[in-house]
Amino acid sequence: MAETIAFIGLGNMGSGMAANLAKAGYAVRAFDLSADALARAKGDGCTVAGSAAEAVSGADAVVTMLPAGKHVEAVYNGEVFGAAKSGALFMDCSTIDVVTARKVVEAATAQGFAMVDAPVSGGVAAASGGTLTFMVGGETAAFGRAEPILSCMGKAVIHAGGAGAGQAAKICNNMLLGISMIGTCEAFALAQKLGLDAQVFFDISSKASGQCWSMTSYCPVPGPVPAAPSNRDYEGGFAAALMLKDLKLAMEAAAASNAATPMGAQAEALYQAFSNLGGAAKDFSGIIKLLDGSWRA
Ligand code: NAD
Repeated sequence: MAETIAFIGLGNMGSGMAANLAKAGYAVRAFDLSADALARAKGDGCTVAGSAAEAVSGADAVVTMLPAGKHVEAVYNGEVFGAAKSGALFMDCSTIDVVTARKVVEAATAQGFAMVDAPVSGGVAAASGGTLTFMVGGETAAFGRAEPILSCMGKAVIHAGGAGAGQAAKICNNMLLGISMIGTCEAFALAQKLGLDAQVFFDISSKASGQCWSMTSYCPVPGPVPAAPSNRDYEGGFAAALMLKDLKLAMEAAAASNAATPMGAQAEALYQAFSNLGGAAKDFSGIIKLLDGSWRA
């Protein structure tokens, strides 16, 4: 078992994940640019480091949970590669573009380190509750080393393929989610115009061929699924800004690989419009208000 884990990036997601590693018995050395994040990590049983390099030095494994590809590249190239001990295992759990993910994993491998890209599905509650799903790209041996560590932070750890395959799985899944949510919202908006009661439409469609996760687990109209953010004025949940980020990553990957993704492009345009109109911080199911004409920022 890797005894000492450096954890870099203790934001909304990383703070809960680092706390779960500490709870599982690992010695966690935490680093973030934010002093508040470091104070919280200390309270959660982590040791605070003064820099990423200091956190990484002597650690058996490194976990990063950073905003975007440019942060991941900067942290690995600038601090992790130079400070890590020989043979250390790296796990980048951030959601980033496939090209950068592959580049960083390949650079790590070339320098004799083991590395996986391991983005997550599940939001802040799953990060603190230890119920994330990890989609992992990288060599089988690296996956084998990463799995027991990631399992302390999640309910499922799935090997998706070689370097970058975790990011590929993540953005394909979230592109599908963005499209299916907009489709579900359109259907409820049309049902309303046609005079159908929302609960009645839900009862029918959730048992008919229109059934999907966006309808039955995360219903965008209040009522049918009490735990869904639609019941809390679309507060909490998965922010539209993050859905937009993932759709942009999907469209970048589609352009680079010549894939036809017309529905993904429409979803990106609609989430961009919703964000521009003030909806960025709302849960992504709040886009129903844009579609039914009731949105007021
Ligand atoms: P966040 O902005 O809350 O946290 C990012 C943290 O990284 C911040 O605390 C920031 O200070 C730190 N950071 C940035 N640059 C750094 C550096 N050079 N060195 C050290 N620390 C640095 O973001 P988050 O919501 O925790 O998301 C993290 C990643 O997880 C993102 O890639 C996001 O897309 C992905 N994700 C988020 C969610 C969610 O619901 N929030 C769900 C799934 C995946």
